[in-house]
Amino acid sequence: MIEIDGAEGEGGGQVVRNACALSLVTGEPVRITNVRAKRSKPGLMRQHVTAIEAACAIGGASCEGLVVGSSDLTFRPGRVAAGDYRFSVGTAGSTGLVLQTVLLPLLLADGPLRLVLEGGTHNMLAPPFEFIERCFLPIVRRMGGQVEARLIRHGFYPRGGGRIEVDIIPGPLQPIECLTRGGALAFSACALYAGLPISIAEREIAVVRKAFDWSDRECFMRQLSTDQGPGNILLLEARFEHVTEIVSGFAQLGTTAERVAKTAVGRMRGYLGCDAFAGPYLADQLLLPMALAGGGVFTTVKPSEHARTAATVIERFTGRRTRFEQRAGSSHAVTIA
Ligand code: ATP
Repeated sequence: MIEIDGAEGEGGGQVVRNACALSLVTGEPVRITNVRAKRSKPGLMRQHVTAIEAACAIGGASCEGLVVGSSDLTFRPGRVAAGDYRFSVGTAGSTGLVLQTVLLPLLLADGPLRLVLEGGTHNMLAPPFEFIERCFLPIVRRMGGQVEARLIRHGFYPRGGGRIEVDIIPGPLQPIECLTRGGALAFSACALYAGLPISIAEREIAVVRKAFDWSDRECFMRQLSTDQGPGNILLLEARFEHVTEIVSGFAQLGTTAERVAKTAVGRMRGYLGCDAFAGPYLADQLLLPMALAGGGVFTTVKPSEHARTAATVIERFTGRRTRFEQRAGSSHAVTIA
């Protein structure tokens, strides 16, 4: 059995999700102690429990210590089976993070399947649906993964109530190289809002217009029906020949629209100021598919603690080493052996 100290490195929920995914893929049972030890409220939260329940359901796995607050978890994998699955994250926990847990094991199933995930689709500190659809999945498809995702209904934190559907045709992934972005194709800013005044979206867009030389047509607001709110997120998208980056600013009580927009603008400036392929979030999310593909290379901005920790967990299960090397400027090359 593989033993992982959840306090090492990033010390958050991603260690648990990646460990369960890798356990299903490799067939190795795992015990994780000190779960989320570096968070202010350590132990499993509701959204982590749902992600692991989903991993148990798709992979015939059994688990000890799977309750909210638990800091010691043992996961014994079974066999990943095809079928239709539906998982509901009770609170507005992120559907994207549940998908992060089960997607790669599901690519090993013995037949096509549909996954329905209900909960939050736009949460702070998690990939918004658009990021999954336009940044992450296109790279998985380039590796050969046949995955399509649709947003059926938005679910903003804290109310949730969103729904996404994912169709998967299992098959092996191939190693790829993602070194350059290619030429710039399009930039856009979208202020999504539901059940909140339009002035919030207008103020966000005004900040973006001041920061970037983007036209009226490239900067827009999109109002959703009130029952999908209350919620607001500003999504800035940069589309290149070989990759798309989406950065976000997520509205929360007590934060001005200007602050939300400045956060997103700062992130986009950071990405555009470097010539690397992957932004910081895409970088930690690409490691797992590349490891399962048997290797891969990509360039990224400065690697995050999330990425380094994911690399350590991957090495424990697969023996595959990840090398992080600084290149000229601020970009880094990440090679999965
Ligand atoms: P914890 O509460 O323990 O921090 P968590 O389970 O909510 O944990 P993390 O361990 O912080 O999550 O992992 C969050 C994941 O969400 C990472 O894979 C990260 O790349 C991704 N992520 C966070 N914010 C964004 C964003 N704005 N866009 C895209 N992906 C994001």
